Amino acid sequence: MLLTQSFKKDGGEISSTKFFGRFVSDRPVWTASVNGKFSIKTAWESIRQQGAAVIWHRLVWFSSTQTRFAFITWLVFHRRLTTKCRLASWGAAIDTTCSLCLEAPETIDHLLFQCSFSKKIWKEIVTLNGFQRGPLSSWQEEIDWMVDHFEGESLINCIRRFSLASMIYRIWGERNYGVFKQRQQDYSAVLRHVIHDTRGRFSDVEKPVLDNDVNKSFFHRWQLNVSYQHSIATPHVWSLPPSQWVAINCDGSVCADHGGYGAIGRDSAGKVLFAIAGGAQETNILVMELMAIRGGLQKARALNPPQVQVRSDSQCAVQMITGLYQKLWYGLGLIEDIHCLHDCFQSCGFSHQVREVNKCADFLASFVQSCEEIHLSPDCLPETLSALVRDDVNGKKFFRM
Ligand SMILES: [Zn+2]
Repeated sequence: MLLTQSFKKDGGEISSTKFFGRFVSDRPVWTASVNGKFSIKTAWESIRQQGAAVIWHRLVWFSSTQTRFAFITWLVFHRRLTTKCRLASWGAAIDTTCSLCLEAPETIDHLLFQCSFSKKIWKEIVTLNGFQRGPLSSWQEEIDWMVDHFEGESLINCIRRFSLASMIYRIWGERNYGVFKQRQQDYSAVLRHVIHDTRGRFSDVEKPVLDNDVNKSFFHRWQLNVSYQHSIATPHVWSLPPSQWVAINCDGSVCADHGGYGAIGRDSAGKVLFAIAGGAQETNILVMELMAIRGGLQKARALNPPQVQVRSDSQCAVQMITGLYQKLWYGLGLIEDIHCLHDCFQSCGFSHQVREVNKCADFLASFVQSCEEIHLSPDCLPETLSALVRDDVNGKKFFRM
């Protein structure tokens, strides 16, 4: 536009040329966006250094979060929180003892996971969010677990993620209060803040939620008033693989100090070709999920089918194998093995399936209580497993709310 105006002031010499018409139609274009229009987002995207996608980004960034909560959570997940141990590593001469429990050095893992003060709050939050389980063995495992259980755009998962962010923010606030004011509240006071934050944020939800037992008990626990609507639950059916394909359902499990895995391969008629069940002294659920996939592929390779479909109910495991998310260090060896096995087949796909249609593999994942792998005879399966196989072949519908 400025160019055009300056040409109009040239006394007519330029504007009278036959080329001037071209300049009239000139317009500024923001090449960083697809539609040519400027936006802060595309400006930011064009100047920032883009890192690899991280598996936890949806735990931190989602529409109903609060900026102050998201920021502290983001620092935690990036391990950038200025804990006492971090300050000491920069040369600060300070006492690094955790001011919440006075029992151990204050690292991020300690503050949010190992600290007796924080543990009590996290246990209550996990329960409020509808899960009954003990603590996992590291903060990283907790993150993996949350990626698998808090993902999704449902209202319940937004509340779960929000309560996590609020908890991190409040624990950090309590830690600061202890450091700077030398005073500390009981853990229950911090928990009340988290509950208050969460109720406050979701107290005016207008969109009705599905009327089912899971939802009712969830909102009752949080004491959130929502309206319910009756709806037809979504049916899920185990699907037969196409002709010449083998479907391998895989699952991992963790119980106390023991991990289990299972895989079952079936042909296009639903006939069981193999079933394996194994156990390991391992409590990382993602490792067990990957062991199940590796075990299933190893067994399938021996049968030499040209094409296989690997089905797992762990989105985390599937996305790491397919490269959608970064691989975590403890899964690297297993993922490498899986990629090698993948190359043994003419076609090999990995897909995520809901738990409801993965019951056979789920059964096998809890079948062995020792550190060994057993190969079950397809003609002589345990009665419970045979019944589950029949359900799948008969197209039994499993309803998911
Ligand atoms: Zn502590």
